[in-house]
Amino acid sequence: MRHFAIVGSGPAGFYTAEALEKAYGGQARIDILDRYPVPYGLIRFGVAPDHQSLKAVSKRYDKVAESAGVNFIGNVSVGRDVSVGELLDLYDAVILAIGAPHDRKLGIPGEDLPGVVGSAAFVGWYNGHPDFADLDPPLGGTHAAVIGNGNVALDCARILSKTQHEFEGSDIVGHALEALDRSAIRTITILGRRGPHQIAMTPKELGELGHLEATSPVVDASDFPPLEGDGSLEPGQRKSVTILREFAATPPDPARPKRMVFDFFAKPLAIEGAGKAEKIIVERTELDEKGAARGTGETYEVPASLIVSCIGYSTPPIEGVAYDERGGKFLNEGGRIADRLYAVGWARRGPTGTIGTNRPDGYEVADRIASEMPSGSAGNRPGAEGLKQLLESRGVMPTDYDDWRKIEETEVGRARPGSPREKFVRHEDWLGTLGR
Ligand code: NAP
Repeated sequence: MRHFAIVGSGPAGFYTAEALEKAYGGQARIDILDRYPVPYGLIRFGVAPDHQSLKAVSKRYDKVAESAGVNFIGNVSVGRDVSVGELLDLYDAVILAIGAPHDRKLGIPGEDLPGVVGSAAFVGWYNGHPDFADLDPPLGGTHAAVIGNGNVALDCARILSKTQHEFEGSDIVGHALEALDRSAIRTITILGRRGPHQIAMTPKELGELGHLEATSPVVDASDFPPLEGDGSLEPGQRKSVTILREFAATPPDPARPKRMVFDFFAKPLAIEGAGKAEKIIVERTELDEKGAARGTGETYEVPASLIVSCIGYSTPPIEGVAYDERGGKFLNEGGRIADRLYAVGWARRGPTGTIGTNRPDGYEVADRIASEMPSGSAGNRPGAEGLKQLLESRGVMPTDYDDWRKIEETEVGRARPGSPREKFVRHEDWLGTLGR
């Protein structure tokens, strides 16, 4: 029997567990560890609450969690409650699937002013992440800005734009819904340091902006290169650019009071304000020969009392595990970090790709493990039994599958009409549900 520990219960962790189950049949015990008592990482805390169809992928992970060889072990923080070295003593292989939960820094003056938040924090706040329950983003001003031209920037801008009615059927947490309902924000500026051809936004997500109840997208037609240039774009990107061109050709709807303004060729230089964010100093850019943003020297101000920086994420380093500072991920070769230690998902590749990208990624690493430790070969490590003893000796009380289900049932039972679930937003509430 082989024993595997997967650290992190998001998509990368679950696809890897599924792949290991298939590769080893009944010959492996796979423990999925998470620092929270409930699983699903990015699905629970990252995917936008109004994108329930994306969240539905967790039904597939439910099946994995229910299979005989897989165990969920929650409420255990690797690095605090147990080290990676200790896991390697207990398991035949350890797979780090911890994602990339930290915001990349802008590296400009003023980014630590109140009112400037990273997308991990902002997304975590509206999705019920316990670390960000008290974020309290300032929504009292009329202007907000979102920095970045990726799908996360779109998520944040869209959430700021929606009406209460548009959140029906979502699982946005109550504190965010109430705060957004009181929000005074009328203009959301999306700052991209390059142009429409260089966006990292996908067509479906962009297309949604054309159907917002109270918000019109505003795009400046003069930002586009000549139409013929669109022909050289990859088909998905061409679709996205076509949608932006349609927005540029449509005057803002006077019946919709809010504006989502796409400001291209706009590089933030500094954030200023008296003790809190009030405006961003922006430099107009152009593309250089390599397609990178080059400042033109022309600057202007964008007013914003809330600034959400959506410029990518990094994986936190873990002591003793080789780390790639530049890439913000673990140093690995094809998923292998060191002997019997692997990384999958964003911790392996960096923060790019959709949820589905993690499937081939997890299968590749599982295949590699299976070729290095063929099914049927003996392992002599204690796995979950040893971990249980170690955690007990440290007074750590892990949660299991039944505990997670109990929390989930309680959340579903608390749901508002039309909402799939009223999520708990604090660790102690999860544990309180279990009587701990
Ligand atoms: P992303 O797609 O890598 O976009 C990051 C954006 O930040 C880029 O536009 C980048 O511009 C910009 N940027 C980076 N550094 C900057 C700086 N210093 N100043 C100004 N702008 C800067 O990352 P993401 O939006 O965080 O998304 C992460 C992944 O999750 C992506 O693969 C995304 O598609 C996926 N995702 C998917 C969905 C969905 O399918 N609905 C939703 C959310 C996220 P440059 O291009 O100029 O570097």
